Amino acid sequence: MESAVTELRKIGVIGAGTMGNGIAQTCAAAGFDVVMQDLSDAALARARKTMESSLARQVRKGTLTEAGAVETLARVVTSTEVTALADRDIVIEAIVEKIEVKAAIIAKLDGICREDAIFASNTSSISLTELAAASAHPGRVIGMHFFNPVPVMQLVEIIRALQTTDPVAVAVTDLTHAIGKTPRVSKDSYGFIVNRLLAPQINEAINCVAEGLATPEDIDSMMKLGANHPMGPLALGDLIGLDVVLNIMETLYNGFDDPKYRPSPLLKQMVAAGYLGRKTGKGFAEYHQT
Ligand code: NAD
Repeated sequence: MESAVTELRKIGVIGAGTMGNGIAQTCAAAGFDVVMQDLSDAALARARKTMESSLARQVRKGTLTEAGAVETLARVVTSTEVTALADRDIVIEAIVEKIEVKAAIIAKLDGICREDAIFASNTSSISLTELAAASAHPGRVIGMHFFNPVPVMQLVEIIRALQTTDPVAVAVTDLTHAIGKTPRVSKDSYGFIVNRLLAPQINEAINCVAEGLATPEDIDSMMKLGANHPMGPLALGDLIGLDVVLNIMETLYNGFDDPKYRPSPLLKQMVAAGYLGRKTGKGFAEYHQT
């Protein structure tokens, strides 16, 4: 690829889950035209409902007009067909945190999108350099790591693969500003910066629960009162999704080949039991689905 499209207008999002619908909503709220794709019709329907209630909350708070909410929703088109992304300037992938699944999508997009389209991955921890290698045009691949909940959280960690070209990095940094977020760049390494610091802390809090040192509520309360964290590590793990936390720990453990990143056995059990946190209604606390 010679150069990337310098001004990104048409945005594609793959995956309509926790992160995908937030990314789609944020881009649409900033005036961008979005196509959101997922394999599952049910996931797309859920994503639209989530966006509707998030926008309705903003209307109630007076930070958005009703017309603004309607216009934002109208800018998001959904599809179960990956070919619906053919005309996109950038496709942001937010599917399951498995390298083989993400690599397969990147290779597939190569055959669908223009040669100058950019492929961004919202991966939490996977090496962008390894993901870029899945594309015949690896210079177009970059990490665009949003945080949960996307409409609220300010940071987008931009991760440059070894192969990422300068025009791609510049275009994605400009886009991040244009959607009202703050970009910060990290070199490519397992977990980048934020999750390399955050996931081991959640993992260690789970080890403390397993050792019976204190209740989850007390552990969270100690980190709020003693470390001034706005949310305790176990509540944060439930918010992120314990399956996602496990995937990040496995990436750190296997990537660095270092036992200090060993996933907590209790974390593995929680995931095996389907206690994934907020999204399943039960994690280290119980949640009533709204
Ligand atoms: P999720 O399970 O909520 O959603 C994933 C969605 O992707 C599902 O709707 C699923 O149907 C869809 N999907 C799976 N394979 C697909 C495919 N081949 N094509 C199209 N759609 C497909 O997951 P999530 O929590 O939104 O995480 C998505 C990505 O974002 C992961 O890489 C994760 O590590 C990363 N991430 C998550 C968080 C978080 O707090 N949850 C934060 C930052 C980054």
